[in-house]
Amino acid sequence: MEDFARRLDREDPLARFREQFHIPLTESGEPRIYLCGNSLGLQPKKARGYIEQELDRWARLGVEGHFRGQHSWMPYHELLTEPTARLVGGLPHEVVVMNSLTVNLHLMMVSFYRPRRDRFKILIEGGAFPSDQYAVTSQAAFHGYDPKEAVVELRPRLGEDCLRPEDILSAIEREGDSVALILLGNPNYFTGQAFDIAAITQAGHAKGCRVGFDLAHGAGNLLLKMHEWGPDFAVWCCYKYLNAGPGAVAGCFVHERHARDLNLPRFAGWWGHNKETRFEMKPGFDPIPGAEGWQLSNAPILQMAALRASLELFDEAGMPELRKKADRLTGYLEYLLDQLPDEQFRIITPRDPAQRGSQLSLQVPARSGRRLLAGLERAGVICDYREPDIIRVAPVPLYNSFLDVWRFVNALTEFELS
Ligand SMILES: *Cc1c(COP(=O)(O)O)cnc(C)c1O
Repeated sequence: MEDFARRLDREDPLARFREQFHIPLTESGEPRIYLCGNSLGLQPKKARGYIEQELDRWARLGVEGHFRGQHSWMPYHELLTEPTARLVGGLPHEVVVMNSLTVNLHLMMVSFYRPRRDRFKILIEGGAFPSDQYAVTSQAAFHGYDPKEAVVELRPRLGEDCLRPEDILSAIEREGDSVALILLGNPNYFTGQAFDIAAITQAGHAKGCRVGFDLAHGAGNLLLKMHEWGPDFAVWCCYKYLNAGPGAVAGCFVHERHARDLNLPRFAGWWGHNKETRFEMKPGFDPIPGAEGWQLSNAPILQMAALRASLELFDEAGMPELRKKADRLTGYLEYLLDQLPDEQFRIITPRDPAQRGSQLSLQVPARSGRRLLAGLERAGVICDYREPDIIRVAPVPLYNSFLDVWRFVNALTEFELS
């Protein structure tokens, strides 16, 4: 069995990318079985050098680093534009890297959540990530609406863990006339369920709703075609599947149809202003057409250097190839888990590969979660536990191996459940 995992690794065309990352070690110096790339991605070895380059330029040039040298800071974020566009399937002027995820979500809602008396609701998935819940609740309240009325949550059917795609569409059909904004986390951070962005966008737009996605768990994980699928906006962070480090600078997509719409309200800052005239420091905001027009501030260069190191690896491997390996890795994990006794571990993530990414969420026996996690830790496994009884496991294609998956499941079978 272990041999089979090793053989899959030998045959894996992307296996060489593991070398490009620092894998955390156990106390005895063995690489840990790191299945937590959905929470904090590992460090690309190139990141340190890229950050050091900018520290050096700062030391040598001071303020002149903004304009001098190969990667001057003023246009530094533009180095990230093309790779980011490829990553999410957007046009270059539809994407920008800026701020953090929740900040970008609020900025997008300022522009795309425009409630009126007869259309004020926000439709989100039940059990959305807390930050998203707080963001939509506070936005509804900010506009003077009662969040209890304004925020509508999609719930799975009784006894089911995930939303049925047809139930999402019929909810949009039923409620859509009063919905100002549809916002879904894709995939959902807890269940790992991925939604059909194109179908949901189409159904939402047919009802006159704005449609946005939180791709915190989607960017660098799912194959995305955001331009073609057509939602109004999307936001994501870059420290999960995108490996850009703790608190990394985040991403934002604004569909081309809004690129030149000067009627959209927005919270503006000087970095969103026309680059030609920004430093004339004059009144009168003249937004850059496209996503860059939503920038507020001077860009965080050191964080962007780390993201650059990571995005180069995504470009080198290519998302279609990464997704292919990811489906095999996740399928292998699913296969091995299915050999375990049913009553002990239950996969709540959809079985259909089209409805998930690299994460499987496992329900574990009641009240054994914390002990199980401690046992896994002793076996060198790092994964993530959510109260009351869910373990989230994410083998990611850039640095996880089939052997990692085999060792994880092997560690599970050695756990005493009683
Ligand atoms: C990780 C995550 C966040 C985190 O937001 P930050 O602003 O980056 O802290 C928000 N939403 C979702 C769905 C997430 O998965």
